Amino acid sequence: MDFRLSPEQALLKSTARKLAQEQFRAAAFKWKGEYPQANEKVLREQGFFGVSLPQQYGGGGLTLLEELLILEEIGRVCPDTAFALTMAGPPRIIAEIGSEDIKRNYLPAFCRDGQKIGIAISEAEAGSAVTELRTKAKIEGDKVILDGGKIFISHADICAAFLTFVRFDEGIGAVIVDQGTPGLQLGKPDINMAGHRHYTLFFDGCAISTEKVLVRGKDAFKKLIQAFNAERCLSATWAVSIALCAFDLALEYARQRRQFGRQIGDFQGIRWMLAEMAMKIEAARLLSYQAAAEPTRLKSSMAKATASEMVEKVTSDALQIFGGYGYMREHPIEYLYRLARGRRIAGGTVEIQKNMMAEELLRRGLHREE
Ligand SMILES: Cc1cc2nc3c(=O)[nH]c(=O)nc-3n(C[C@H](O)[C@H](O)[C@H](O)COP(=O)(O)OP(=O)(O)OC[C@H]3O[C@@H](n4cnc5c(N)ncnc54)[C@H](O)[C@@H]3O)c2cc1C
Repeated sequence: MDFRLSPEQALLKSTARKLAQEQFRAAAFKWKGEYPQANEKVLREQGFFGVSLPQQYGGGGLTLLEELLILEEIGRVCPDTAFALTMAGPPRIIAEIGSEDIKRNYLPAFCRDGQKIGIAISEAEAGSAVTELRTKAKIEGDKVILDGGKIFISHADICAAFLTFVRFDEGIGAVIVDQGTPGLQLGKPDINMAGHRHYTLFFDGCAISTEKVLVRGKDAFKKLIQAFNAERCLSATWAVSIALCAFDLALEYARQRRQFGRQIGDFQGIRWMLAEMAMKIEAARLLSYQAAAEPTRLKSSMAKATASEMVEKVTSDALQIFGGYGYMREHPIEYLYRLARGRRIAGGTVEIQKNMMAEELLRRGLHREE
């Protein structure tokens, strides 16, 4: 086991850092809930969009770990731009379990043109309890007819398609529904604490080709949940990057701000806070790297849950270091704190991640999956 990065990985990391400093720093906190479309274009031009997708579908062919290294550096400077990189989650799932046709249709369009694929799982009566979802998919000849609805779908207005969990006669599966398909409608957006938009989707006799079935059959749900492991790693590293962004700002402030005739970084209360923030970030960061090397259900859930809890605490401590200034609207730390809070809920709550971990632990024990 070698914890050091290879020279190529170190170069990748410094390239991402330089890009973030030069292109994203100036407007890092100006997005105000908007998806950073202009920055996504820069990421695509740099070849960072879909960087771990297979090369034959327009991706960069790098490893998941390498994708996390890039995400971390970008998010440390501009978390909103790093969010664009987490959009690689659904295409990764398609790359893992999709048919050749689906891969050819959606992956190059994602990498080249930024045609994003939203995730549509949650329903009003089926949040954590995904197995209770009701959106129906009925096969009629060469068509699948969808009826039902989804809720909380992030940035659905800018997605070209949705990876949608549905219920077939034989059980849960997934289909890809293109934006604009007759019978699919977006409701009015809900705005979350961080200012981002979430949409309700309505499927009313929405007919799609059977070629758009991503997965169905006896093992479909299991395959889907497994394919989400890599997505959880992206989510974990995004949280790490938000924490690093808050940490960097707080560290700088602790060096500059003076009270009682000294810099506040001289006070033990602040020094220990900084040390504990760094300890927590580093632990979550290593767990996400470990999970990326081998994205099992246990490791990816552990990385995601740890990072989600960590980022709430670290951004809260960073805000504390800024005192009253950090609590004021428009202050970067105030935004990061609100952004961080969503991490314990989105993509499966921390409680559900812990349930998954416990299931794996009770079945196999710890360190017995190797
Ligand atoms: C920022 C953000 C982005 C999102 N983006 C999307 C998206 O793009 N697509 C999408 O489909 N969904 C999205 N969601 C929805 C998200 O996946 C759900 O909010 C989440 O799965 C929880 O479902 P729920 O809100 O219905 O809560 P519930 O399932 O009702 O849970 C309520 C509380 O009960 C706890 N709980 C539930 N069951 C158990 C249990 N068995 N054991 C212990 N505790 C339990 C939960 O952890 C939670 O604390 C997003 C949510 C957020 C906040």
